[in-house]
Amino acid sequence: MNPHDAMLDDIAVYALGALPRGQARAVREHMATCPECTAEYRRLKPAVDAVAYSAEACRDAAGGAVVPSPRLKARIMDQVRGSAARPRPYNVGEMRAVRPIVWPAYAVAAACLAVALVTSAFNISLNEELHQSQAQLAQLGTHTKLLNRQVAAQRTELADLTSTESQHFAVEDGEVVRHGNRLYIAMQSMGMPPRGKVYQAWIMRKGGKQMTPSVTFMPDHSGVAVVHVPARASQIVEVAVSVEPEGGSKQPTSKPAFVVKLT
Ligand SMILES: [Zn+2]
Repeated sequence: MNPHDAMLDDIAVYALGALPRGQARAVREHMATCPECTAEYRRLKPAVDAVAYSAEACRDAAGGAVVPSPRLKARIMDQVRGSAARPRPYNVGEMRAVRPIVWPAYAVAAACLAVALVTSAFNISLNEELHQSQAQLAQLGTHTKLLNRQVAAQRTELADLTSTESQHFAVEDGEVVRHGNRLYIAMQSMGMPPRGKVYQAWIMRKGGKQMTPSVTFMPDHSGVAVVHVPARASQIVEVAVSVEPEGGSKQPTSKPAFVVKLT
């Protein structure tokens, strides 16, 4: 490819207004001395204008299913038109009769490339936004699942506590409730434990000799606590609650608030 042929390619991009400033100056300087290249530039202008109406045809060149938004397309085309319409000092001379429009393949390719570049930059930022939204959605989804599980658990709890088939074992300020294989401690007016302390449940299994540690819990500000004791209720013969340091104990360290036999 001789310098003149290479210049022809630059002129196509220059006509689109997509050439870097330095190269654009080189093209202008060359055109000032080369009537052939000047003629080529003039011949391309209609093609550049026509590209304004053929962005749709650039879809394949842009790499597939991506279609720029109408607003984006309009902006690109305004730029292309603007740079084609701007008066050029080297252009003043000979005006010839307009030749029939021929679209050189490289001019269309350059136009498509310009559209593709802007479009892909646009898509990258869109993709980033999309990923952020997707991450937020996933987080919300996880949160919703958790909430749904909590609501389901509370519904089971409510049904168990109010079922006529449940067994209720009264204790001071509340009761222990057994429904099938589920066991609850339901307190109505429990005092707050001292600072740094919590309530801890203890269970005795069938055939067991001593209490084993179970969940720790706190009443709410009105003294209510409903606690699911994670154990197979049919295997539990005794339940107790005591005040223990935060985190719970392996052996009770205080006199139990209550001990109740489940018989
Ligand atoms: Zn030339």
